[in-house]
Amino acid sequence: MDTFDPRAAATTARPSLYGKSAVVTGSTSGIGLGIAKALAAAGANVMLNGLGAADAVEATRSELASAFKVKVGYDGADMTKPDAIRNLVERAERELGAVDILVNNAGIQHVAPVESFPEAKWDAILAINLSAAFHAIKAVLPGMKARGFGRIVNIASAHGLIASPFKAAYVSAKHGIVGLTKVVALETAESGITVNAICPGYVWTPLVEQQIEDQAKSHNLPRERVVREVLLAKQPNKRFTTVEEIGALTVFLATNAAASITGAALPVEGGWTAQ
Ligand code: NAD
Repeated sequence: MDTFDPRAAATTARPSLYGKSAVVTGSTSGIGLGIAKALAAAGANVMLNGLGAADAVEATRSELASAFKVKVGYDGADMTKPDAIRNLVERAERELGAVDILVNNAGIQHVAPVESFPEAKWDAILAINLSAAFHAIKAVLPGMKARGFGRIVNIASAHGLIASPFKAAYVSAKHGIVGLTKVVALETAESGITVNAICPGYVWTPLVEQQIEDQAKSHNLPRERVVREVLLAKQPNKRFTTVEEIGALTVFLATNAAASITGAALPVEGGWTAQ
C-alpha cells in the first residue's frame, strides 16, 4: 500500500468549493466584492452583479477569473426589477451551469427621521435590501431542489437584530430579511439546502472610509476618535469587521461542514448585540 503523503495531498487537494457556482448580488464593490473574491479563491465560479462603470466592472471580472482560474461572469441586473433578477439567475444557470450558492448582498441606506423619510427612499430600500432577495431565492430554488444541494446566504446587518434611530427603512428591511431567512430555511430543511443570514456590524469598506474622513472634518476630531467614539460607539471590540471576514464566513457556510447550520442569523459585530 502507498504511504500517505500529507504534503502531496495538500498541494493536489481541490479548493473547498471547486465545481460549485455562485451568484453574488451587489458584488462590484465593498462586502459583495470581498465575498465574490473569497468564493472564487475557494474554487467557485461566480456571477458578479451590481452598478459601476463598464470598464471598471470588466477589469474586476477579468482579474478574478485570471487570479483564481474560475469562470467569472457579470450581469448588471437592477435589483429593483424582478424580471431582471430572474434573468440574472437564468443567465448564471446557462453560463455557469447552475446556481449552487446565492448571496443576497446588494443594499443601500438612507438616514432620516421617520416623519421626513422620503417615500421613494423607503420603496427603494425595501426593494433592493429585501424584495430582491425574495425574487432571487424564488428563482434559484427549483434548480437547487433538483440537484439536492443549495446554499443561500443573506447579508443582513446588526440592524436585522436591533434598531437605531433614523434608519426606519433599513432596519425594517434587515429585520425582514432575517425573517425571510428563517421561513425559507424551514421550507427547504429536507432538501440539502441551507439558508442563513450574516449580520455584520460596521465593516471597513471604501464607503465607511469616506464617512471617517467626512466626520473627522465636520467634528474636527482626529481619525482615531471618530472611529472609537462616533462610528464604533456601539461596537464593543472597537474594530471594524473586514470584508475578508465576511467572505470567509460565507465560504464556510457554503461548504459541507456547515450542512446543519440553517435558519441562523449570525452576528459578526464585535459583541454589539450582546449588550
Ligand atoms: P457598497 O455600497 O460598497 O455595495 C453595495 C453593492 O450593491 C454595490 O455593488 C452596488 O453597485 C450594489 N447595488 C446598489 N444598488 C443596486 C441596484 N439597484 N441593483 C444592483 N446592485 C445594486 O455597500 P456595502 O457596505 O458593501 O454593503 C453591502 C451589503 O452589506 C448591504 O446589504 C449592506 O446593507 C450590508 N451591510 C454593510 C455594512 C457596512 O458597514 N458596510 C454593515 C452591515 C451590513
